[in-house]
Amino acid sequence: MAKRDYYEILEVKRNATQAEIKSAYRKMALKYHPDKNPGDPTTEEKFKEAAQAYEVLSNEQKRARYDQYGHAGVEGAAGGFGGAGMTVEDIFSHFGDIFGGGFGGFGGFSGSRGRRVNKGSNLRVKVKLNLKEIANGVEKKIRVNKYVTCKTCDGSGAKDGTAYSSCSTCHGTGQVTRVSNTFLGQMQTTSTCPTCGGEGKTITSKCSVCYGEGIVKETEVVTLNIPAGVAEGMQMSVTGKGNAARRGGINGDLLVVIEEERHPELIRDGNDLIYYLYLSLPDAALGVAVEVPTVEGKVKIRVEPGTQPGKILRLRGKGLPEINGYGKGDLLVNISVWIPKNLSREETAIMEKFRDSSNFEPKPTKEDKNFFERMKSYFE
Ligand SMILES: [Zn+2]
Ligand SMILES: [Zn+2]
Repeated sequence: MAKRDYYEILEVKRNATQAEIKSAYRKMALKYHPDKNPGDPTTEEKFKEAAQAYEVLSNEQKRARYDQYGHAGVEGAAGGFGGAGMTVEDIFSHFGDIFGGGFGGFGGFSGSRGRRVNKGSNLRVKVKLNLKEIANGVEKKIRVNKYVTCKTCDGSGAKDGTAYSSCSTCHGTGQVTRVSNTFLGQMQTTSTCPTCGGEGKTITSKCSVCYGEGIVKETEVVTLNIPAGVAEGMQMSVTGKGNAARRGGINGDLLVVIEEERHPELIRDGNDLIYYLYLSLPDAALGVAVEVPTVEGKVKIRVEPGTQPGKILRLRGKGLPEINGYGKGDLLVNISVWIPKNLSREETAIMEKFRDSSNFEPKPTKEDKNFFERMKSYFE
């Protein structure tokens, strides 16, 4: 199926502001919310589609990639990033804050699909990474306070092996059969027993540790393998590391939101890094070897005599890797020339001499002007 344009999906202009995108998404999500449209599978698709569009357009980096490369630019990311394969619940835990609680009951989305496996809720944690960790990928151990399976009763919720009795609703079969009269004749429908949830037995005596819930709160250390190239606001989903479900069932997921620590000297721009290098007036005129910071430490670069402010030196591959593992950004050394703010009498005399020399009059060549043009286009 061909993917629709994200701007089209949210019905916003290509130059829409973040506020407009957010508001448009909120409108779509409320319109297509599955609870509001029971029994209509197309609305759920539309709902997910809108969530995917929002996920990309609400993130300036992803949006820029999307603008440049289309869907291909934002797909195939590692580690469960991206919108593909999201369930409705994921979408709510993901974008929960956008609804600001104004649309109650999201957490307990029940849907109209009948069968429902007991699933623990998702947990959301933030992980702060520095640029070096982002450049190389990192293994992080984090402590998560969450519901885990009760060890005393092994998650059953029952006091011990004997604390069960056969379910009185389904008589131990775990299923209930209903017969209804329709215009086609009698119809028999079988469904999971609502009393015991299909287990065929009910607890007579509850576990004293978890009070019959089968889960207890505990702090667990979770190891996260964060791939290189992640960016602020990205979300990683670790399957099964969220809250355990009551009395068996499957665990929720752990949603890890990436936070980026600001580097003291390097500015991130997508996968490129920018460094502002100030040269002294004589160094710019005479040329100089200087050290510039990179993620991995300092490197020496050569600045040619007569280098103009605004020139950008591109150190290839010294930026950040693509999250999917192909290619690396560059380090852009953006040159400025420091003009002294106070001059001594002697310096003033020297400067006045320079002023008198026709060699010091600005004579930018076409190439020099290109630097300024390039800089302008880069920082627009
Ligand atoms: Zn227990
Ligand atoms: Zn039953």
